[in-house]
Amino acid sequence: APTLKSTYKIASIPGDGIGPEVISAGVEVLTALTKCKKFEGQFELDFTHLDWGTDRYLKTGKYTPEDYLQQLKEYDAILFGSVGSPSVPDHISLWGLRLAICQPLQQYANVRPTRILPGTKSPLANCQPGDLDWVIVRENSEGEYAGQGGRSHIGEEHEVATELSIFTRTGVRRIAQFAFMVAQGRPRKMLTYVTKSNAQRNGMVMWDEVVREVAKDFPDVTLDHMLVDAMTVRMVLNPRSLDTILATNLHADILSDLAAALAGSIGIAPTANLDPSRKNPSMFEPIHGSAFDITGLGVANPVGTLWSCSEMLHWLGESEAAVGLMVAVEKVCEAGIMTKDLGGSAGTKEVTQAVIEELGKL
Ligand code: ATP
Ligand code: MG
Repeated sequence: APTLKSTYKIASIPGDGIGPEVISAGVEVLTALTKCKKFEGQFELDFTHLDWGTDRYLKTGKYTPEDYLQQLKEYDAILFGSVGSPSVPDHISLWGLRLAICQPLQQYANVRPTRILPGTKSPLANCQPGDLDWVIVRENSEGEYAGQGGRSHIGEEHEVATELSIFTRTGVRRIAQFAFMVAQGRPRKMLTYVTKSNAQRNGMVMWDEVVREVAKDFPDVTLDHMLVDAMTVRMVLNPRSLDTILATNLHADILSDLAAALAGSIGIAPTANLDPSRKNPSMFEPIHGSAFDITGLGVANPVGTLWSCSEMLHWLGESEAAVGLMVAVEKVCEAGIMTKDLGGSAGTKEVTQAVIEELGKL
């Protein structure tokens, strides 16, 4: 037998709602990939499943064990499903698990590739695969989701609530540098950065300044600027004119849901939460949430998770396997084996099995 190059330790956190359904699809496909003819013996993935989610919270009052960060640091990567349940307010569950991982592990770069997969349809008329091929880089550690602010006089007529956006020069510079490197690595070498610096005259103006400063180190990247409101219009009316997109935590959150919908479905879109310093493990997850309206029906689209698994393989340095996985996913889409959100009639399991079969043919 060939000697194994490496074994990667992966923490899987299926979480809530359709999270367990799509994560089990991801684990099944990744396991099949390491055993398929083309990639057999190249590397192994060693999964540990962590039952961190709302059930645990309802029983113990905590989403995670006390030492969860130390535990996570033992892994090479984290595969995450989703968190959120009708039985707990969303801001409790989001801060209890997802943000409790991303922020302390310094996963400051949230990367969201979006393109139209072959065989699928964009809701935009005349928009074919190739007409929409973007990477959204989202600042993932500060900004509007810094968690600072407060409320006083709660429930009274004159109640006051503040929600502070925190932008640091260091934080903006590092995400800008990251985005320029992403843009530089793509054929068109174009970066569009998004702010709202006409109305927000402090943090957003600093963003403009820092991005333009960083631009001097990347003379080969074509840079342009959009205000976030105008950006939504450009994404819909002129998708071809965009390539790599940089935006704040809140703006990119919104723009990437729009991007996923324009590419065909929120069910296909992947996310990588990266610590570019590689001191901590990075986390990979579909962009969709727990989708309780379809939980347990077996119809959740696994493609967002499979694409996230591919991004994880890229980050681990297994780029050939990462590309192979997406080739298999695209063949399955092209053959029309798709879930309802993409206009098909296949279930999660059929799509998963079809991808595994394609891996066998690589
Ligand atoms: P959250 O609050 O965690 O964002 P949510 O239920 O508000 O969760 P999403 O989970 O993102 O929002 O789902 C939005 C809609 O998209 C839902 O109606 C859901 O049915 C659909 N959807 C999301 N993910 C998928 C998927 N993987 N496959 C099919 N449909 C999906
Ligand atoms: Mg949502």
